[in-house]
Amino acid sequence: MTKFLVLAMMLALAPVSRADTYIDFLSKEVIPLHDKLFETNFVVSQDPPMCEKNKLIRGFFYSKYRAIYLCVQNLLEDPRLGDVDGSGKEKDARFQLSRTLVHEAVHAVQWCKGRDDWTLFDHDVTKRIGGFGGSALDKSSKYQGNERSEYEAYLLENDPALVLDLFSLYCTLGRGNYVD
Ligand SMILES: [Zn+2]
Repeated sequence: MTKFLVLAMMLALAPVSRADTYIDFLSKEVIPLHDKLFETNFVVSQDPPMCEKNKLIRGFFYSKYRAIYLCVQNLLEDPRLGDVDGSGKEKDARFQLSRTLVHEAVHAVQWCKGRDDWTLFDHDVTKRIGGFGGSALDKSSKYQGNERSEYEAYLLENDPALVLDLFSLYCTLGRGNYVD
């Protein structure tokens, strides 16, 4: 018993050397969406080799594996990460990684819906509810290809509750039941 206690104390006092886990960076607003992904046989994984190849990538969705990959190390190593409002890198990382998860979840919903162009809404609808500048879109579309699906993902990435609703609507019956 004493031996066990000593061991437990040593472990408790040992310097923390664990790698950064994406889950530690998720804000509580995105946890229901995160859990829903796993409930519907999607997975979230971090730092696959692809992230190494392009340090600008924050995350991507790979439909073949129903997987959302988050490039946590890329984000943490980004020199631009930091004091947006004076509260430090950790808070910024939390904000950005949570947003990345929601963004990639939008791509999962787009895939679930099953349209060829990976969109949820018709273009005239998304144009009306727009409201972000073109710069972020341009940066991303360089390596994403589909500008309209990116546009939707950027529109929706700040609204995890809405994305959860869309996810529940389109991703629970399996892919391609909803093509219109
Ligand atoms: Zn995207």
